[in-house]
Amino acid sequence: MDFSHYSDETVTLAVDLVNTLEVFGDSESLERPGDVERFLDEHAPGWPRGRRSLTHADLHEVKAIRSRLRSIFSAVDAAQAAEHLNALLDDVAATPRVSTHGGRPHLHVEPAVAGVAGWLGAVTAMGLSVALIEGGMERMGICESSTCDDVFVDTSRNRSRRHCSDTCTTRENVAAHRRRRRSL
Ligand SMILES: [Zn+2]
Ligand SMILES: [Zn+2]
Repeated sequence: MDFSHYSDETVTLAVDLVNTLEVFGDSESLERPGDVERFLDEHAPGWPRGRRSLTHADLHEVKAIRSRLRSIFSAVDAAQAAEHLNALLDDVAATPRVSTHGGRPHLHVEPAVAGVAGWLGAVTAMGLSVALIEGGMERMGICESSTCDDVFVDTSRNRSRRHCSDTCTTRENVAAHRRRRRSL
């Protein structure tokens, strides 16, 4: 079965959505419904916009999806991550359906009636499901920096990634270097 629809882009969407909340700095990027629209315009230009603007109800639903996605990264093992993923796929009523947009028929797994949060929950859960199936729990990372809690999916060949970004790697290297110098 072709799940190529659920690859890098949906995984990035999931990761970036989780990271809209900086747990450490307590900084929230999604404060208003319009913030969600902007986030989706940037990350998923084809999102089911519908006719109306997003509401506060949409905002709260999206935030609920976001915290459920984080729980997949903090799961103790693949079985627990799978449990969270399956529960999320169930709750948004993600269902296999054949889509022909773009010409070639391919598989979508999404709710029949797409509210934004349901759609977002389905695509991100599918992206992370494929990532988990293909790479295992070792690929699901939470930044090891002492001042950052951002999540990432490790696509390095030897699965050696420890930080969410180069910024965090550099900051931690500098800090480690200073610690070493102090202890000399
Ligand atoms: Zn498609
Ligand atoms: Zn980080």
